[in-house]
Amino acid sequence: MKAAVWHGRQDVRIEKVGEPPAPPPGQVQVRVAWCGICGTDLHEYMGGPLYIPLDHPHPVTGVQAPVIIGHEMSGEVTAVGEGVENLAVGDRIAACPIIGCGKCRWCRSGSMAQCDRVAFLGTSWTGGALAERLNLNAYQCYHLTAAISDEIGALVEPFSSTVRAVAQGQPGPEDNVAIVGAGPIGLMALMAARLRGVKRVIAIEMADRRIEAAKQCGADAVINPLCEDPEKRALEITDGAGFDLVMECAGQPATVLMAAKLTRTRGRLVIMGVFEKPAAIDLTDVVFREKTISGSMSGYGLYDETIRMMTDPRFRADLLITDHIGLDDLVGKGYYGLLNEKDKHVKMLVRPE
Ligand SMILES: [Zn+2]
Ligand SMILES: [Zn+2]
Repeated sequence: MKAAVWHGRQDVRIEKVGEPPAPPPGQVQVRVAWCGICGTDLHEYMGGPLYIPLDHPHPVTGVQAPVIIGHEMSGEVTAVGEGVENLAVGDRIAACPIIGCGKCRWCRSGSMAQCDRVAFLGTSWTGGALAERLNLNAYQCYHLTAAISDEIGALVEPFSSTVRAVAQGQPGPEDNVAIVGAGPIGLMALMAARLRGVKRVIAIEMADRRIEAAKQCGADAVINPLCEDPEKRALEITDGAGFDLVMECAGQPATVLMAAKLTRTRGRLVIMGVFEKPAAIDLTDVVFREKTISGSMSGYGLYDETIRMMTDPRFRADLLITDHIGLDDLVGKGYYGLLNEKDKHVKMLVRPE
């Protein structure tokens, strides 16, 4: 079968690989329908390896480079291993990429994403979603309802991480929420906040296309820091209080500093951006105004809730899925398209056949 295999930095090859074996006990085999390209895929390609084990096998899965990549997937179960009860051949699923050790305190308490030895689909698992087929643990698979197409199913993974990140900030119906950065994750966080039901959602963004996308995705207003002072504007919008919840979705030193400032006294800042190096926050301001800062990692535990939310008509997959490509175009049209024309694309889906 055909697969996208990461061999090294800037060396991802589309090649013929062996079919996965019959699924072992506890696993199922899945034919991939669609797989989205994620920002972390671009990081692995341009500057990796970040999470791909290079010189030693992963402690839980035994996998090391070269690995089949891809983790934002939907597909159909084609074979079921021994002991799997909740899945049958023909079931349509979305996959959660988290694979824990199963033994540590985090795995045993329902927080597998926090496992110190966690493995991920597409970086340290036996198969990746940018291939025709792969084996998955049955616990990684979540049923897609008839209302969710295969294409929308490929958005479950990234959308679930924003659903969980918004939930970390616990916004109420009277809260004003700011989304800093209207890239793919920012736009999904915006919809997740909207669907949760908050008073206002404001996006903070500088690129014209993304400003437009944020408005279409339901932003009540967009603050462009190139044209106006974001702090002043934030106070005007929130009747002088500042934002109850700020979601940092850009991952830049300047944006996290701003995101912390825009958070009101005793407000919450949730960080979803992936930072290339440590970034500064004005901690005196955090202390004096008793702000809460938290990170949020993956949508583990909220997949069924996410799938339910995605059936709401206000979830606009049509605004998020901007491109469809085949596996052979992954590097050229896919990676370089996203790297060179960032704001032209939101989510690019790949058909691995
Ligand atoms: Zn992802
Ligand atoms: Zn563990």
